[in-house]
Formats: sequence, C-alpha cells, structure tokens
Amino acid sequence: MGDKKRRKQAFLAPHPVCCFCGGSTPASTEDHVPARGIFDARQWPEGYSFPACEPCNGLTRHDEKIVAMLARLLNFDDNTTELQNFETRRPMDAVRQAFPGAFRAMRLRPNEVGSFLKRTGRSRDGYETLGDIPVISIGQPDFMQALRSFATKLFCALHYKHTGRIVPASDVIITKSNVQVFDGKIFLQMSCAWLATRPS
Ligand SMILES: [Zn+2]
Repeated sequence: MGDKKRRKQAFLAPHPVCCFCGGSTPASTEDHVPARGIFDARQWPEGYSFPACEPCNGLTRHDEKIVAMLARLLNFDDNTTELQNFETRRPMDAVRQAFPGAFRAMRLRPNEVGSFLKRTGRSRDGYETLGDIPVISIGQPDFMQALRSFATKLFCALHYKHTGRIVPASDVIITKSNVQVFDGKIFLQMSCAWLATRPS
C-alpha cells in the first residue's frame, strides 16, 4: 500500500462517515475546510481535514474558487506581495472560465460607480475618472450562493470538529449574508445554510 493510501485509511478509520450530508453516507475522501487555495502559499492550518463522501467533497469545487478569489481581492492593498498577486490570478482565471457572466459583472459601469460614490457620501479626486476608481460588485447570485455553500460547509465542519457530532439532515441552518463597506474595507457577515438546500 502506498503512503498516500495508508495516510487516508488512517484518517478515515476514526472518521468513517461524511460530516456534511447528515450522517448516513460513508466517507471516502479527506476534505480540507476552508479550502487550501484560500491560504497564502497554500499554508493551511493543521487539523482542518474532514471526512467527506465524494459528492460532498466535489460539490463546492467551483464555490471554493469564488471564495478564494473574493477573500484575496478583498485583502488587496499596497502591501500585497508578488506571490499574493500571482496567487490571486489563479482563482480569478478559474472564476472567469467557470462563471464568465458573473465575472464580467464585477466591473461596474462608470455611472454605477458614480451612484455608489453618491450613495456612500464619497467624492473623487479631481484627476480621477469614474473608470479609474477601483470598485467591484460581488452581489452576483453565483457569488452569493458560493459564499453560502462555503459558510454551510464551514459550519458543518466546525460543528463536527468541536462536538464530534454530525449535523443531522433533518436540521435546518438558517442562512444570511450581508456585505457592508466601511472606509474602503468590505465586511462579509454570514451565518449558515444547510448544504442539502443547495441546488446541484
Ligand atoms: Zn456527504
């Protein structure tokens, strides 16, 4: 038996059931939550591997790319390093391919930038055109769905990690997401939804 297979078996032995779909499906994979692609240089925290069946593991494949892109874009500033810049391109390219419409819709038209400035009581420097102002929209349904799936999976994972119990399929987790902007920083506020409500 190869090292990889042995390691996987050692992981699944004490965690035989998928922790994401109610507790009746055998786990066959090790799922990293949050996804590794979210972390700089793929340095993810230890101890955040969870037992998953294949459908649950694959369900959020695209969502993870959206969340990785948003997490990185929202942290973009003058201190962003070359590596972070490079690592931001990867999920951006993936999202551009998988969700071309939602990706294009991130870019606001100049008149939308104008009304955003007005609504938030901002003004622009004299030399800036509206097209120069880096405002993006992330309210697209695909992006909101991805954030909800991400939050749901994270909730199920953390519940399992800290209580040792799997959220039953009969339970309902209410979902709520909200985006607020304060002084140029964007805050996401989320609670969770039961994964099974996600249309596949
Ligand atoms: Zn599952």
